[in-house]
Amino acid sequence: MEEKLSWATFIFDSLGNEMKNDPTISRLLNDYREKIRETWRTMKEYGVVEECTRCALQDGGSCCGQGIENKFDVVTLLVNLLLGVNLPRKPWDPTGCWFLGPRGCLLEARHVICVNFICKRLYASVSGKGIMEVQKAMQAETDTAFVLEEYLKGWLIRHE
Ligand code: SF4
Repeated sequence: MEEKLSWATFIFDSLGNEMKNDPTISRLLNDYREKIRETWRTMKEYGVVEECTRCALQDGGSCCGQGIENKFDVVTLLVNLLLGVNLPRKPWDPTGCWFLGPRGCLLEARHVICVNFICKRLYASVSGKGIMEVQKAMQAETDTAFVLEEYLKGWLIRHE
């Protein structure tokens, strides 16, 4: 993880401003921010956030286990830096995911497996319409992340 973080930080320090000034990257980042906001809004509206909080605080549950951070690649970490996230240099909870903080995930741009995961407890407690709306918002978020990351990869190759 340290190596991926160093690479993401190095690219961001060297090219971050140039990236943010690229009109396509800027538009895709804004679009992605909007989609992330919409996922959280929908999860709040249909009681997902409330149920996850209850599970974590009352029942000691957590979906954010150690090792999930290894699924992240440098580009997703770079996207977080472009979105203004301070990436932690070490995990807050040594038994949990590197990016888990005292109040939940510290990232804006989460991995697709973090975004899309709906556990049995949620299926049981959230209405069918709620699950459908949340899945729609999650899909829009991960589709937008894919387009942004693919564009960034091409951009980086052109600026090697
Ligand atoms: S949601 Fe955040 S803290 Fe949880 S596993 Fe994913 S990256 Fe880690």
